Order: sequence, then C-alpha cells, then structure tokens
Amino acid sequence: MEKTLVILKPSCVQRTLIGEVISRFEKKGLRLAGMKMTQLDDTILSEHYAHLKDRPFFQRVKDSMQACPVIIQCWEGIDAAKVVRSLIGVTNGREATAGTIRGDFSVSSQENIVHASDSSESAKIELKRFFKENEIFDYKLSTLSNLYSSDEI
Ligand code: ADP
Repeated sequence: MEKTLVILKPSCVQRTLIGEVISRFEKKGLRLAGMKMTQLDDTILSEHYAHLKDRPFFQRVKDSMQACPVIIQCWEGIDAAKVVRSLIGVTNGREATAGTIRGDFSVSSQENIVHASDSSESAKIELKRFFKENEIFDYKLSTLSNLYSSDEI
C-alpha cells in the first residue's frame, strides 16, 4: 500500500470544510494513517514550494499557507497519490471538474482548499517533511476485503 500527504489549507480551515474534505477521502476507501494540526512557517514552506521559487506568486502562496493553522494528513491505499490527486482536481478551482474537491469548493488558483503530493516519489519526501515516524499509524482497516479484491492486496 502507498501513503501520500494531504494538507487542508487555511482556505479549507477558514471555510469550515475540514469534515467535508476528510469525508471525501474516507468515503473513497482510503485509510487515515496520520493527522495533526500545525502552524506552518516560511522555512518549511520555502522547501515545500521550492519548485515555485521563481514564480511571481511564491511569497503570496507562502503567506496564504501561514494565515492560520492547517491540518496535515497521511492517507493510505493502493496508488494513493494518484487516487488522491484525482479526487482533488486540477490546481485552478475554476477549471477543476465538478465533483472534485477543488471543483466543488474553490474558485481560485491559489485558495484551492487542499495540497496533495503529485506522485508516489514526492509523497515519500513530503511525508518525511511534515511527519515524524511515530506520527504515522499502521493499523489495519477491518473493511479491507470490502475495499479490494484478494488479488489486489
Ligand atoms: P498543485 O497544488 O495543484 O500541485 P502547484 O504545485 O503548481 O499546484 O502549486 C502549488 C500551489 O501554489 C497551488 O496549490 C496554489 O495554491 C498556488 N498556485 C499555483 N499556481 C498559481 C497561480 N497561477 N496563482 C496563484 N497561486 C498559484
């Protein structure tokens, strides 16, 4: 099983959509392996958004991510990174497909409710960035046989 990182951004917290967004991942069949509320700072965000450092909105995005505490989560499932990205939709909420989290709850390219790792490789790096080892829990879902066929697990 693969694990991936999700951050419920200040836009999600302020608009009181935390439960709604968690519910999307739960209903899909992903397992919540870790979750905490934390206040992000400029140092960790500069590392996390290093791929955007030459973009004009770099500082604005980092400031937006520090506007209030965020909820950091680790979700697990087969192909979890790909599955979560398909649930959240494309970056710009105005262009995201209806039915996705960004498509349903965002009208902005910046204030787009969630961050999710864009591949299994970046998920590994990002989980290490935001979680200590003892904050990730490897319990088993009792519904596993209802979520996957025996040859999938
Ligand atoms: P994603 O979050 O979909 O993986 P990126 O890694 O490209 O997208 O961008 C990281 C975050 O930076 C986005 O989620 C969004 O909050 C912000 N962002 C991206 N593009 C823009 C833009 N053109 N204008 C403002 N903010 C943006």
